Amino acid sequence: MLAENLSRVEERIQAACARAGRRRGEVTLIAVTKVFPAQAIVDAYALGLREFGENYVQEFESKFPQLPELPGAHVHLIGHLQSNKSRRAVELFHTIQTVDSGKLARRLNEQAEGTLEVFLEVKLSGEEAKHGAAPEELPALIEAVSACPRLRLRGLMTMPPWTEDAEPSRPYFRRLRQLAGAHGMSALSMGMSNDFEVAIEEGATHIRVGTALFGRRVKK
Ligand SMILES: *Cc1c(COP(=O)(O)O)cnc(C)c1O
Repeated sequence: MLAENLSRVEERIQAACARAGRRRGEVTLIAVTKVFPAQAIVDAYALGLREFGENYVQEFESKFPQLPELPGAHVHLIGHLQSNKSRRAVELFHTIQTVDSGKLARRLNEQAEGTLEVFLEVKLSGEEAKHGAAPEELPALIEAVSACPRLRLRGLMTMPPWTEDAEPSRPYFRRLRQLAGAHGMSALSMGMSNDFEVAIEEGATHIRVGTALFGRRVKK
């Protein structure tokens, strides 16, 4: 199942790269394993995946002890981070994709042991997304992160309002690319199962894919 899903996703990525005149190597596939058991990570790793995304600190904390050593695996926090969970987050994750305030950045910087990669989460959709910095807040946020020696700023992350169709996401992806360009950043984390082809066409460097790999998540 997973192997078939992965090859279908891989074909979709390659087709989108071909349409956009991009190389496959420019796009990193992050396997989003939220809600699925630790075994999903192990299975995906066995198929060659190395980048993983989890939404909740506590959920990944409970899976972590069940994981064997997975050399080269890299885990991204892609869900909102509450500041009281930041200490555990820096221990568990290699990349925090949801930095949206200077205060959170400074806290992560104080608590990080080594270098921590970060993306800034940008809210582009008015009231629909609860988290993320507004585009106007980016200059101050970038300055705050730049003053944090342990944080390595990679780029921007966003999540458009969910739609079944991919096209409605395009303007959001385009806007994120423009914002990143305006601030001299190149990494763009955007695109999920329903819209990652459009994200790749608009310059995504990191796509976050759950359902298309692991199937539908059953809410508990
Ligand atoms: C759940 C989630 C994803 C993956 O979504 P799918 O539609 O299952 O591919 C990607 N990014 C974020 C931030 C998520 O919360």
